Amino acid sequence: MPRSRRKIYEGLVALNEEMFPKVCGRCGQVFYSVDDYVHKTRRLFYCSGLRRYDEPNLSFVGLYRNCRCGSTLLAMFQDRRDESEFGMHRRTRFQAVLDQLVEAGWDRSIAREEVEKILAGQKSTLLELFLAR
Ligand SMILES: [Zn+2]
Repeated sequence: MPRSRRKIYEGLVALNEEMFPKVCGRCGQVFYSVDDYVHKTRRLFYCSGLRRYDEPNLSFVGLYRNCRCGSTLLAMFQDRRDESEFGMHRRTRFQAVLDQLVEAGWDRSIAREEVEKILAGQKSTLLELFLAR
C-alpha cells in the first residue's frame, strides 16, 4: 500500500480504536472495532438504531444494537461539533483523514460521506476499493 493511502487507513483505524474495544456489561462479549460490533450484534427490529443527540456540550451519534445475550448496546460516535478535548482531538483526526483523501484526488464531500459511513458502522465500498487498490 503506498504511503499516502497507508496514512488514510491508519487515520481510520485510529478513529475506530478510540471507541473500541467495547465490552457488553451483561455477558462480557468484547467488540474490537465497528465492524466487529456490527458483526457480533443484531440490528434493532423496530428502527435503524442510529440516533443523533444534540446537547449544548455533548453532540454525538449513537448506534444501538442488540447483543447476542439480548442486552441493547450503544456505541457512541462523537460529533465534529463536540468542543471537549476529546471532541477536538477527534475532529482534528477526522479532518486529517479528509485532507489526505482530497490530496489523493477525492472530492471532499464524497470523502466526508464515506468516512462518516465508516464511523457509523456502515460499509464504504468506495473506501474499501480505494484502500485495496
Ligand atoms: Zn451481551
